[in-house]
Amino acid sequence: MRRFFLNGIISETMELTGTDAHHIARVLRMAVGDNVIIADENERTAKAEITAITDEVVTLSLIEYLEDDSEPTVKVRLAQCLPKSDKMEFIVQKAVELGAVSIQPVNSENCVVKYTADKQAKRVERWQKIAHEAAKQCKRAAVPTVEPIITLKELLSRVGEDETVLFCYEAEDGRTLRQALNTHQAEKYTVLIGPEGGFSPEEARLCQEMGAHPVSLGSRILRTETASLAALTMVLYAHGELGGAL
Ligand code: SAH
Repeated sequence: MRRFFLNGIISETMELTGTDAHHIARVLRMAVGDNVIIADENERTAKAEITAITDEVVTLSLIEYLEDDSEPTVKVRLAQCLPKSDKMEFIVQKAVELGAVSIQPVNSENCVVKYTADKQAKRVERWQKIAHEAAKQCKRAAVPTVEPIITLKELLSRVGEDETVLFCYEAEDGRTLRQALNTHQAEKYTVLIGPEGGFSPEEARLCQEMGAHPVSLGSRILRTETASLAALTMVLYAHGELGGAL
């Protein structure tokens, strides 16, 4: 059944507008009496029936709430240093499927891409759209947000006290991800991944000074997109997601 994200909270009567209404009326050519799944701002989901359709507004009537456990209880944010070309689109899509709660694009020393302010906003808008589509496709109850691009310093200075930053560092040969997860259990994690060129020694020092935990993902150097998806998978799996439930 088709899934739509509601701005607001599920109620007896609801409306979908904008591109969703257009999509239902014109592209999917759905009719009065058809059913859809609605996911609301509180991450609740419900089955609803279409009671009226125009190109601008689709009116829905609540049928029943649904049990939904698609949102992980552990909140994992991906802080991804900007990769080359359109690799970020792939990373956003896969991070949403795997269960990241949000994606924070980060500008660091070795990032090759340089966007103007205008281009940055357009990129983030595009990535948010990709996140929205991926959330629909993989049946999530919430759309992960793609935040505006910030610098590494900004990221580190804004970390919450209840959050553990797993700084995936290619030059770390001491502590492994598993060791860090064992000693720093949290409900909120940020997985920090460098760009193709990796992190500079100064950046690595800064990360540690600001309380991020350097971790190794093993003895092989992974490409940035492989590292992001592997680290997300492992953190979520360790918390019972992605087939990791005991
Ligand atoms: N150019 C660097 C590699 C960068 S890999 C070099 O040749 O050393 C891109 C990013 O993926 C890294 O910054 C890191 O965040 C992550 N990464 C890749 N392999 C890793 C590993 N074995 N352990 C921890 N992080 C890794």
